[in-house]
Amino acid sequence: MAEDQRAEKKMTKVEGGRSSAGRLKTVSWVLWAAALLCAAAVCLIINRTIYVPAENFAGRIAVIAAAYLLLVIIAARLRIKGQKDEAGARKVKRATAAVTAALAVICIIAAAVSSVTDKIQEDELRAAQLAAEDRGAETVYWTAFGKHYHFDEYCQSLPEAGTLYEGSMRDAFEAKRRQPCEFCAMPQEGTDQE
Ligand SMILES: [Zn+2]
Repeated sequence: MAEDQRAEKKMTKVEGGRSSAGRLKTVSWVLWAAALLCAAAVCLIINRTIYVPAENFAGRIAVIAAAYLLLVIIAARLRIKGQKDEAGARKVKRATAAVTAALAVICIIAAAVSSVTDKIQEDELRAAQLAAEDRGAETVYWTAFGKHYHFDEYCQSLPEAGTLYEGSMRDAFEAKRRQPCEFCAMPQEGTDQE
């Protein structure tokens, strides 16, 4: 009786084998997509499109890189499960290693390019510092995303959620936030009477 049930179970397992292999493949691709998002996030943090303060920088990169590796390892394991033989498994491992190495190279190139091309224009910074002095703005504000700096921490264009960072104008420029906010940080022209 119990044996019959077991045999039956085995049968359905074999029948379901194909579709479950397909499912594993799909899950594997989803994990790969998530891993690629992690790699993209690392590149965006390195070139400061996404701002992460210096004290959190290395930690954040390490956490995301670890998440990438975990996702890729699980994705590869799932694919290897679906392979019929040793050669197929090797192929998956090789492809995984090759993509990971390529992504690492891309991140390193992104870091090198951004460190070479993102030099602060001192005259641009000086002009922004003077404009801030004019407005009595000793501290400027910026967010994790975007390219603008703000003089008003309650500026209407700032999102309600999310961390607001603050510092000197030079800090903002180093964070690659070098454009004045249109609402609160535009240089005033002429005499503004109210
Ligand atoms: Zn603003």
